[in-house]
Amino acid sequence: MIGVTVPRTHGRAGLLEKLMGAVRPEFRAELLTPAADDPVLGWKTCVAEGCGRPKRNGGMCDPHYARWRSQGKPDRAVFLADPGPAIRGRPGHLEVAFIDFSELGPQVKLELQYAVQSRWDEQASVLSVEVVRRVVRLVAGTGTASLLDLSRAEWVSTAERARPSRRRLAEATMFLIYARDLIEVLDVGDGWEVEYSRDEWRVSRLPGLSINPARPRARSYVRFGWISQPWLKELTKRWVRFRVVLGACQNFRVSHG
Ligand SMILES: [Zn+2]
Repeated sequence: MIGVTVPRTHGRAGLLEKLMGAVRPEFRAELLTPAADDPVLGWKTCVAEGCGRPKRNGGMCDPHYARWRSQGKPDRAVFLADPGPAIRGRPGHLEVAFIDFSELGPQVKLELQYAVQSRWDEQASVLSVEVVRRVVRLVAGTGTASLLDLSRAEWVSTAERARPSRRRLAEATMFLIYARDLIEVLDVGDGWEVEYSRDEWRVSRLPGLSINPARPRARSYVRFGWISQPWLKELTKRWVRFRVVLGACQNFRVSHG
């Protein structure tokens, strides 16, 4: 078999230990407050004149949005140019974008922090603080101790039941699935050893290949579940692995599906 052999640690105790070793102190905070100009977790500020709070609704921060609504939703441009007296900060109310992990159980908290850290380390695409907050709320609502407590399909339907807008649902689901896949790899290992026996290979988990983690589209998976004859499935897997390994060695792009 191709690929490195990863020592397996069975049981959640092993996973918790790995997470404790993997999540760095700056991502282990209950309250993560990335800078506005952070390359991955950066956020935009409210467009009201003179305001520096994070943008949340209709281009505005929460207090400005609330004030605009309370004034009967006047013309936005007029309101934003002269949004009235400065909004005074309330004690205990953060004036920056933040992710609050405190409602999560100890292990699933580390799992999501590890996912945020991994996206940050990859520096491949931006990750919206709002999206992470949505996922944290969603996971906290299920009361699960680990992302591995639910299958990928169960997480997708959990996200759908929360009934967000279509764009937000897509973003939140992508991050949720990314996080679950990441934790699964941390739990059981990586590469061909794990993927080969599955009916669905995750291309991102195969050595030498990479995909954009923000866009886990259908073609990021190679599916074998539709092949009912075991011998044919095995033969197909062998052939695809041969193609993938060959492609990776020659630095070719793999295309399939
Ligand atoms: Zn504002």
